[in-house]
Amino acid sequence: MRDEIIEEISKLTALGLKRTLRLVEGPQGPRVTMDGTEVVLMCSNDYLGLANHPLVKEAAIKAIEKWGTGAGASRLVSGNMEAHVILEERIREFKRSPSALLFNSGYNANMGLITALADRGTEVFSDRLNHASIVDACVLSRAKVKRYANRDVDALEGLLKASKAKKKLIVTDSVFSMDGTMAPLPEITGLLEKHNAMLVLDDAHATGVLGERGRGSLEHFNIKEHPSIIQMGTLGKALGSFGAFVTAGQEIIDLLISRSRPFIYTTALPPSVCAAATKAIDIIDKDQALIRKLWENTLIVTKGLKEAGFDTMGSRTPIIPVKVGGNQKAMEASRRLLEHGVFVQGIRPPTVPEGTARLRVTVTAAHTGEDLKTALNAFKEALSA
Ligand SMILES: *Cc1c(COP(=O)(O)O)cnc(C)c1O
Repeated sequence: MRDEIIEEISKLTALGLKRTLRLVEGPQGPRVTMDGTEVVLMCSNDYLGLANHPLVKEAAIKAIEKWGTGAGASRLVSGNMEAHVILEERIREFKRSPSALLFNSGYNANMGLITALADRGTEVFSDRLNHASIVDACVLSRAKVKRYANRDVDALEGLLKASKAKKKLIVTDSVFSMDGTMAPLPEITGLLEKHNAMLVLDDAHATGVLGERGRGSLEHFNIKEHPSIIQMGTLGKALGSFGAFVTAGQEIIDLLISRSRPFIYTTALPPSVCAAATKAIDIIDKDQALIRKLWENTLIVTKGLKEAGFDTMGSRTPIIPVKVGGNQKAMEASRRLLEHGVFVQGIRPPTVPEGTARLRVTVTAAHTGEDLKTALNAFKEALSA
């Protein structure tokens, strides 16, 4: 079997699809050290710069002193600690939701949520560009999966009309993670009652980013919390920590606690991780300056890239793809940018559809005007034909 594995790897290499790890030295931030050289980091999801924020770090350190390093067991055995309960209450309040439940990562939350809600008798309506964790969860749930074209509400409604399933579940990213576009949520939520369907909303890139107060996509679109809308969000992106949450009606949370295998069969999050996320929410809630700065920076970079002639693929958020096309070409572009002092990862299939390899630029509130200038100049110098 080893021969086949080696063969598999050389095939990936030939297709420009072999992946390798890049080392970032020191903490995350707008500038990081790679291979001993300082570069501007333009591909992290630490949108608000909270992953190395002094108050967030202090909260984590204090939590270790108070509660130790590990939870020691799953939540349902003996791992349910004060730090978890405090964070869930904070999230519930922040999201204005009836109830909240922590998961150990966004990947796990989607797995745990979709497999608990959907079974063989369920039809799941899933956007074609949904995150891999949703795709994997749909397979594991054994539900009948109907995929619709990205953000195509008419296609979605057509599928809903044709469905005879008793249980209908729509699942969508609210911000598409590799495109930076938004799901048409006013239209999608308008379908729920009419078709007796529920909606799972993946707010991974909306939490702490969208909405005046960073509460996510529902706040952005001014959509009211609804018993048929279930939201998930991550703590590892804008909230600078690790883990994820689901917010929903109490009946959904009850079901997850009793049924969701990725919730039940895993050790609870370390208390320090929870305390860091709690502090991050406190910071965002108290003052929206970081969120405003994030959007100011987003505008500067989007405008700068477009003016330099780059195709940003209709991005409307701090995720700004720059279309390249070829797999090798995308990785070569990433390498050239790094030579010019800017780190942006190339993104290839199967993360994005075949033929749409791209550089995925992300902007954070921590970037200074100087950082952004360096980044835009690097794009012009390194990539103009
Ligand atoms: C990152 C991401 C996840 C996974 O979240 P983690 O906490 O990193 O596991 C899920 N959904 C989307 C849309 C994401 O971008």
